[in-house]
Amino acid sequence: MLSLGFPQHSKTKPLQPPKPYLPCPSSFPSSLIFNPTPPLVRPHLTLQIRALDAAQPFDYESLISHQFQNCSKLKIAIVGFGNFGQFLAKTLIRQGHIVLAHSHSDHSETAKKMGVSYFLDAHDLCEEHPEVILLCTSILSTETVLKSLPIKRLKRNTLFVDVLSVKEFPKNLFLQTLPLEFDVLCTHPMFGPESGKNGWKDLPFVYEKVRIGSDESRANRCQQFLDIFAREGCEMKEMSCAEHDIFAAGSQFITHTVGRMLKNLDLKSTPINTKGYEKLLDLVENTSKDSYDLYYGLFMYNPNATEELQRLENAFDSVKRQLFGQLHDVLRKQLFENDLGLDGTRAI
Ligand code: NAP
Repeated sequence: MLSLGFPQHSKTKPLQPPKPYLPCPSSFPSSLIFNPTPPLVRPHLTLQIRALDAAQPFDYESLISHQFQNCSKLKIAIVGFGNFGQFLAKTLIRQGHIVLAHSHSDHSETAKKMGVSYFLDAHDLCEEHPEVILLCTSILSTETVLKSLPIKRLKRNTLFVDVLSVKEFPKNLFLQTLPLEFDVLCTHPMFGPESGKNGWKDLPFVYEKVRIGSDESRANRCQQFLDIFAREGCEMKEMSCAEHDIFAAGSQFITHTVGRMLKNLDLKSTPINTKGYEKLLDLVENTSKDSYDLYYGLFMYNPNATEELQRLENAFDSVKRQLFGQLHDVLRKQLFENDLGLDGTRAI
């Protein structure tokens, strides 16, 4: 611990250290707020470090560190407290953020167990003035939910974030619906309760800073939110929502479609499973845990999905054609190289 060298005082007078300068959250420099191992702040040039010893009542390092920790906590309101909203809430709570929630159904019991303040009424939630509104609604319900939020009850510069598995749709929706004062960050954690159950390390997190106000405190708040995922070890990928949707249609939508097709095949585990087959069974299990709303949203709200579905069908047809084409060759050879015609008579 660091102790600070103050001028000598008479022994009879209790030492009254001058009040330290504790900067307010918005005035912390971003380098301090977002560095996981922040440097010490020593704003008073008159204070000199003389010795290292045990913590004292006037230990400004611990005071500042405490203040720093409080500053890096966000008040986040999750709107849509279903499967994915609850999954994210666990990490937000563990990191010490204040988490509020509101949803279509009553999840108050679950929320209580998790340490999340639950609001049945969206007006009450907004009156709590969260710094961040985190939309975790189904893709299909997002427009209705956003338009029904009493945003006039929020602080004028609230940060809106979404986690939808499609990105251009919420970006356009936010830009069309929210007044200019609100900040907008579109994100997609490329994992869910299954794939992220053992931690988020090295899992991709896609984001686009769609509209973040120019002043430092707004930039800091956005970064603080992104740091939630960076701190867990996510691979942070900044890209446009349009780029995301192109990549996701060719990867995530195809994964879900194949998973659902295989589920319809009713695959069973056998005593002689190969590793590849085990992976197929895992795929079926993972994708079938996600709601149909989610899957349908991937199709309906990603303009690239229809083309990918067509490509998948073409690819299947081409594999079939290859197989049957080869089969015809074999049959033809058998029929004609034995000099027998289709009617069994010998060819001339
Ligand atoms: P989901 O079925 O896509 O969404 C469920 C959520 O939507 C619940 O909070 C539900 O509220 C709400 N909802 C559904 N219908 C509604 C309606 N008519 N009106 C108002 N709210 C409605 O499942 P999810 O897995 O929880 O996904 C939530 C969001 O996260 C989606 O946008 C999804 O794309 C995204 N996401 C999911 C994953 C994942 O692995 N699951 C990963 C990344 C991103 P109630 O529960 O209160 O009814």
